[in-house]
Amino acid sequence: MAATHLVGGISSAGRSLPGEAFSVQRAAGPYLWDTDNRRYIDTALGFGGTILGHAPPTVIEAAQRALRDGPLPAFAHRSEEAAAAALAAHAGALTRVVFTNSGSEAVHLACRIARACTGRSRVVKMAAGYDGWYDDQAFGNAGSMEAHPAANHRPDNGSMVLARFNDLADAEAVFAERTDIAGIIVEPMMANAGCIMPAPGYLEHLQTLARRHGALLIADEVLMGFRLHAGLTSHRLGLDPDLATVGKAIGSGMAVAAVLGRLDVMRVLEDGRANRAGTYSGNPVACAAVNATLAELDQQDYPALLARGDALRSRFAACHTGSAVEIETSGYGTVFTIWPGARPTNYTEALAFAQPTFSLELHHAMRARGVIVMPQCFGRVYMSFSHGPEEIDALAAAFQAAVAVLPS
Ligand code: PLP
Repeated sequence: MAATHLVGGISSAGRSLPGEAFSVQRAAGPYLWDTDNRRYIDTALGFGGTILGHAPPTVIEAAQRALRDGPLPAFAHRSEEAAAAALAAHAGALTRVVFTNSGSEAVHLACRIARACTGRSRVVKMAAGYDGWYDDQAFGNAGSMEAHPAANHRPDNGSMVLARFNDLADAEAVFAERTDIAGIIVEPMMANAGCIMPAPGYLEHLQTLARRHGALLIADEVLMGFRLHAGLTSHRLGLDPDLATVGKAIGSGMAVAAVLGRLDVMRVLEDGRANRAGTYSGNPVACAAVNATLAELDQQDYPALLARGDALRSRFAACHTGSAVEIETSGYGTVFTIWPGARPTNYTEALAFAQPTFSLELHHAMRARGVIVMPQCFGRVYMSFSHGPEEIDALAAAFQAAVAVLPS
């Protein structure tokens, strides 16, 4: 049905697909079906909204039970503490939890907590990093690197200031320039800017720098949390953040995210220095989904999944486009970006290497072969536990055939 009343035909700009209508009927495991009932292997996975695959049965059943018992009491309910305890059990020293409805909201709250905790006003955010779409987080639009060409013209919207990812000197300069830095928010990998990996030692340096200046380190793990193991990616990388935001994978597609923090940090929410609210925050359906998802993740073989993802990346990287351009990928086993030609190490390179036309054409060529890849040039291929060897083979075969017909 053509969209007349729904603005632009979509509720989130991330769902835009230039030039055509593509509409999903249902999704299960590694597959989704369009409204003509054509089946595809899905690697967009609800923007990484699930690592178990679409609609994992035990999660859906738990959510259905919670729905039947009433989706919205105006009081504490029995699965809320259980879900918080389950998350905390996977988060080391970050033993205190607040649930929110989206990652954007979780980032908003984490920054508020950092400000309340330090009595300072600004949070450092990485240029081109996506930490949600609220005005201050998004810097108007995407917090782009072009807006941060030199240290003497640092973008600053009054609540956040930008620093360049993978640039140690720039991070130090922010602290030299300002004394009101409450925290640094950073992803363990710049996923939304094309899976730019942290340079060796970079994240550790940010942590040391934050500590030295009495600021908090906030790991934005809305996308990367529970993707490398059943826990925080920062912990896997040897970091010790003061706060972390998680979302997507913890709810298997249900609208839920959370802020995790140390007891001494989260105390600001109990002693009146900061507040949190939300009609739907920590609702029973969301909490049931978190409980069931984490129980499933504890049973999963992460090393095997990462190995499958790495194997797929190698098979992609063995392909060439129709004009003999090599394929590169950047990222981790279950989240990576496809690049025609070269892999970027920072956002300036990512902008230079990005080819929007290639990415859109790849999307179409793959879709014609029964596979969904995100159409954006900084899009990610997501792998889930439901993508088995059969799907990996089909993905690799479709990719080889698809890129061969692309000029790049
Ligand atoms: N932070 C990161 C790293 C994200 O990837 C996203 C969403 O993609 C968000 C925050 C915002 O989360 P949400 O879309 O749930 O508001």
